[in-house]
Amino acid sequence: MSEKIHFLPWERKEEFREFLKKCGVLDEIRKGYRVGLKIHFGEKGNPHYIPPYLVKIVGEVIKDKGAKCWLIDSNVLYRGMRARTSTHLEVAKEHGFMDIGIPVKIAGDFAQEREKEVIVNLKHFRKVYILEDFLEFDYLILLTHFKGHALAGIGGSIKNLSMGCASRKGKYKMHSKMVPQIKKELCIGCETCAKHCPGEAIKVKNGKAKIIEEKCLGCGECIQVCPTKAISIPWESVKSEEFQERLVEYAFGIWKERKGSIFAINFLHSLSPDCDCLSKPAPPLAPDIGIVAGKNIVEVDEFSLKKTIEVKGYHAPEGVDKFLHHRPNIPTHIQMEYGKKLFTSL
Ligand code: SF4
Ligand code: SF4
Repeated sequence: MSEKIHFLPWERKEEFREFLKKCGVLDEIRKGYRVGLKIHFGEKGNPHYIPPYLVKIVGEVIKDKGAKCWLIDSNVLYRGMRARTSTHLEVAKEHGFMDIGIPVKIAGDFAQEREKEVIVNLKHFRKVYILEDFLEFDYLILLTHFKGHALAGIGGSIKNLSMGCASRKGKYKMHSKMVPQIKKELCIGCETCAKHCPGEAIKVKNGKAKIIEEKCLGCGECIQVCPTKAISIPWESVKSEEFQERLVEYAFGIWKERKGSIFAINFLHSLSPDCDCLSKPAPPLAPDIGIVAGKNIVEVDEFSLKKTIEVKGYHAPEGVDKFLHHRPNIPTHIQMEYGKKLFTSL
């Protein structure tokens, strides 16, 4: 283990408060700081989110340091309870995050999204689009439930930072290289999409909507507003390897813009192969393992994956990558490999 990576076994999670004091996160926080705790509250029906009582402890130690903190997540691109601020807050409440003494903030509200373009000049993106809310905190702590992911292989701190802090447009651009698809048979010609489209890229002719590719900004707003669910993201346009590199480029852009003022804490429990965005995720592949913390988000994810490989799983033995075993076509190492290249090039 790197000296800078800290690990607390799950069976000793009652020592989490002491662990936080030793893992270095508090050294980063000064009195009076405004600290963002980037979290995923879990989609409605998904039971695999970080236990709120552990999150409450994070809030308490930060307050003891004389700083203020907020729990924060952003609205998502897909249709679901977490797509809108009002219903997103309902899920946060249902999952027990509204009464642990930490105010909750949802970024990327549909009508009031504030986005910043950050120049990165990398392989896939020249610039990335970040929600300003995540840049305004003096310090950002990633509280990440570590799990598998159908396209990213794993969902760790890199994904929490990149997809979680990107604007709607940024999220769309990581997921797809194509403009949204319209299923003509579902379109009723109501023009709602055209009225909301910031690029004036949608025309409705003969009762059917059509997207003018050259004008589309890839913001995904039309997907959210269509009342008949006629518009969708062409997910398949970006394959896993490229998707993972895209995530890393966004994580890098946010990290760079925040001048590295980020700390990562991964919770290795409820190790489902599925993202917390699913309402009915598959059951865990291995027993709960522990908590991994450190300042280097790539190393924190790499160490987390290593721990999941070391343990005996429910369907795969010790030494086998449980997520890769579950989805042999989705690699789990690309984020870390590409992450090491980018983050050490500074
Ligand atoms: S909002 Fe949906 S149903 Fe209405 S015109 Fe656009 S695609 Fe068609
Ligand atoms: S993705 Fe955005 S810019 Fe493109 S058609 Fe839809 S609303 Fe318009």
